[in-house]
Amino acid sequence: MAPPTLTPDLPLAILGAGPIGLEAALAAAQASLPFVVLEAGDEVASHVADWGHVHLFTPWSMSVSPRMRQRLATRGLAPPNDDECPTGDALRQRVLLPVATDPSIAPHLRLGTRVVSIGRQGLLKHQEIATAARAARPFRLLLETAEGEEILLAGAVLDCTGSWSSPHRLGDGGLPAPGERRLEDQICRRIPDLVRDATDWVGRRILLVGGGHSAQTAARDLAQLATEHPATQILWALRDERPQFAPLVDDPLPARRALGEDAARLFAGGCPSLAVRTGVVVEALAAHDGAIHATLRGPGERTETVTVDRIVSLVGATGDASLYRQLQIHECYATSGPMKLAAALLGAAGGDCLEQTSHGVEALRSPEPNFFVLGIKSYGRNNTFLLRVGWEQVDEVIAELASVG
Ligand SMILES: Cc1cc2nc3c(=O)[nH]c(=O)nc-3n(C[C@H](O)[C@H](O)[C@H](O)COP(=O)(O)OP(=O)(O)OC[C@H]3O[C@@H](n4cnc5c(N)ncnc54)[C@H](O)[C@@H]3O)c2cc1C
Repeated sequence: MAPPTLTPDLPLAILGAGPIGLEAALAAAQASLPFVVLEAGDEVASHVADWGHVHLFTPWSMSVSPRMRQRLATRGLAPPNDDECPTGDALRQRVLLPVATDPSIAPHLRLGTRVVSIGRQGLLKHQEIATAARAARPFRLLLETAEGEEILLAGAVLDCTGSWSSPHRLGDGGLPAPGERRLEDQICRRIPDLVRDATDWVGRRILLVGGGHSAQTAARDLAQLATEHPATQILWALRDERPQFAPLVDDPLPARRALGEDAARLFAGGCPSLAVRTGVVVEALAAHDGAIHATLRGPGERTETVTVDRIVSLVGATGDASLYRQLQIHECYATSGPMKLAAALLGAAGGDCLEQTSHGVEALRSPEPNFFVLGIKSYGRNNTFLLRVGWEQVDEVIAELASVG
């Protein structure tokens, strides 16, 4: 099915200027494809900025793409290439912000531009199901900027909007717990920066919910704070009854191995100010008398109500599917990723994220011609995405578009 030729009037629209959207922009520029990058934030990589104080668990040598490294080197801006793990902020400052100022990208970058919805010009979702007639119609994107709303037409679309801004909810079954929506302002859904925002956390009673790498990082940081300020009290609630923190005996990533070991130590009672509950879900939340009352339900349907000052919810995130609600995207009913990739990932279930490679351009295709979900959003609820996989996805899709563009 031949896609429309990309032109300055019908360019490739790259949604999101995170690490993968910027990689796609650089690849499109190198392939001489007309493109525009639409980024909701006032700066590029705004999601990475949200966790800027956190160290990546991959070192510099695995966190900068060969394409970006080479391009920055030609401008005398080569980033480190060693075994140290950068923080998110260092990755932004040394790599992502400079890449965005590259003369091949900067004129095509629109900051402060949120994509609200995407459709096909003149067609509804159910019309022309995966036909050549559908492919011949431009994409129609509703954009929101400080000036108002506008329409942009595009010949092809790469959705690289990530998953960070759609965090999962606290309640059982993935639903919001009763009372959770009312307390939205009082729930921290990111890894707190305990240095910058110390006064918000010192001496507080804190409920931390979640068991993945982000929650482990927060547990470690909070335990450190409690060691320095013993009035700080942490209750760490995990859904798993027997969480596995360090599954890899010889983890090749020392930073990830250290995190797992620290989490296991805390779990085993390594910090007197941090208590653990396993096999629990948040049953309900309520606020009164200046505190939050969280009811936890655990094994045997036992409930316990704890009174805290702050809640940190780190229970995962999945990309925003509402963007492409009007398109013919076949989503996996279990993981919410694009179906073919989701099936490939489920087929390769388990294992370490270091073993992940891209599954090829076919796995990225949807019934909607010339629309691709790339980057961490493409993994849906699967938490094994690595930057390296995103760079491979970009190579494959840009090669495909360049071959017909
Ligand atoms: C704490 C943490 C640590 C991680 N550590 C590692 C690591 O060590 N190694 C590794 O390989 N991976 C790591 N990852 C996983 C992954 O590589 C990162 O999440 C990475 O940022 C994903 O890049 P992305 O470009 O796909 O998405 P994002 O970085 O999420 O970028 C998406 C961009 O899209 C923009 N956007 C969102 N919605 C819209 C919209 N509607 N319109 C326009 N723009 C929009 C956002 O503002 C953002 O700039 C980590 C993730 C987290 C959260």
